[in-house]
Amino acid sequence: GVRVRFAPSPTGLLHLGGARTALFNYLFASGHKGQCILRIEDTDQGRLVPGSKEGLEESLQWLGVQFHESPSKGGPYGPYIQSERLSLYQQYARELLNGGSGYPCFCGKERLQSLRQRGTTGYDRRCRKLSRRQANEEMSRGSPFTVRLKVPENEVVCVEDAVYGRVEIKSSTIEDQVLLKTDGFPTYHFACVVDDHCMEISHVLRGEEWLLSTAKHCLLYSSLGWKPPQFVHLPLLVSSTGEKLSKRLQGTSVLSYQERGFLAEAVAEFLCRLGWSGGGEREGRSLEELAANFSLSGISRSPATVDEGKLMSTNKRHFRRHLHDPESAAVLARKLAECVKTTLTVPHDSSSLAPEYLFQVLQLLEDRISLIPRVPIDAPYFWTPPSATKESIPSPDIAARLLEELSGRLQELTDFSQDCVAKELKGASVTLGVPHGVTMQVCRAAIVGQERSPGLAGVCSVLGKEQVLERFKLAAI
Ligand code: GLU
Repeated sequence: GVRVRFAPSPTGLLHLGGARTALFNYLFASGHKGQCILRIEDTDQGRLVPGSKEGLEESLQWLGVQFHESPSKGGPYGPYIQSERLSLYQQYARELLNGGSGYPCFCGKERLQSLRQRGTTGYDRRCRKLSRRQANEEMSRGSPFTVRLKVPENEVVCVEDAVYGRVEIKSSTIEDQVLLKTDGFPTYHFACVVDDHCMEISHVLRGEEWLLSTAKHCLLYSSLGWKPPQFVHLPLLVSSTGEKLSKRLQGTSVLSYQERGFLAEAVAEFLCRLGWSGGGEREGRSLEELAANFSLSGISRSPATVDEGKLMSTNKRHFRRHLHDPESAAVLARKLAECVKTTLTVPHDSSSLAPEYLFQVLQLLEDRISLIPRVPIDAPYFWTPPSATKESIPSPDIAARLLEELSGRLQELTDFSQDCVAKELKGASVTLGVPHGVTMQVCRAAIVGQERSPGLAGVCSVLGKEQVLERFKLAAI
């Protein structure tokens, strides 16, 4: 069966690249009724960021990625945190030492540093030349040592990748990598291979940046006499200008999109389409639908462009879907109430925070704004009257007469629907012989106070008669 894993290092927030990898793993497992595992790779203790394990899990959960086995859920192949599996790595390192595929290296930090300073690429293999007796003597003297892999000389290592095909790497370009450090912690490469084997991982889906390292992994698999999993490397993410994803975007966390108000399904769908072209053209798909269509053959080799405009339109599509579903719409309305309260200080009255009112606002804004936190910022007039002054009201000479005429007409309206309001606005222009553009300008200044908004009649209809008349009065003073 299919068993895949997402193996983040807890070194910070979940960023776009990591999230895309997690989603592809999840889609692949779901589509094959397999298992998706979360494994925390925390062997580089110096880079740990406290709290990031929890943060990663929260972001993954928000995106809808579910794991069959994980640190918090447990499972038959646990523990799922590498720092809790040290004895396992030590056991296999010993096996490699005994079998002669690995060797102890006693070179200290200073020597390695000076090698590097002299520009030597990689380790010069000095300790590889020690006899077994010499090495044993050093060890019994208690000298600290690392365990290195004896990389075969003059061989070609072949990586078979489901996306990139056959990749050949000369073993002479591969360093005798450290597998176990002096403190008994494994390096990433070693822990990853041991765990993928011991957790019976069938497919390794991860970013393209690991493709060349896979040669090292293949050497380890053969030294340990294990069958490697199927490798599936995912294409690089690039910015819309075609550069490798910039530090800024690269560091763009899933959390930051969540905070800006993007919907989880939208971010998830957007990420699923970065480097995978299956799933049909129709957008607005759920993870289940995407999983049902997911196949490795749809993964492309060419870099995938992260285009925020595309994310925005995906968000709009999902937003619309949410608005048409009563339950999700209620959630949106609640969220909007929160945002209004934290963004604006003076909502005109508490009824403007009522769910039905907020729902009408969202419906009216549907095509313009799909990020809830933007709503009170971009359309504050739904909660606070504009500060209309004589100066802000255009054509002051006709404005007074217009506002009076409009007040009279709207006062009489029993049906305050968009169409009826629109009719009265027109009627006022005709009665006073004022160009309709001027009427609209005056009305806009009194009601909205900014250039951009949905149609005025619609805004008036949502605000309601009382509020509209109130604003006319304020503007007329
Ligand atoms: N811990 C590695 C990372 O943070 C995992 C790479 C892999 O999937 O093997 O990307």
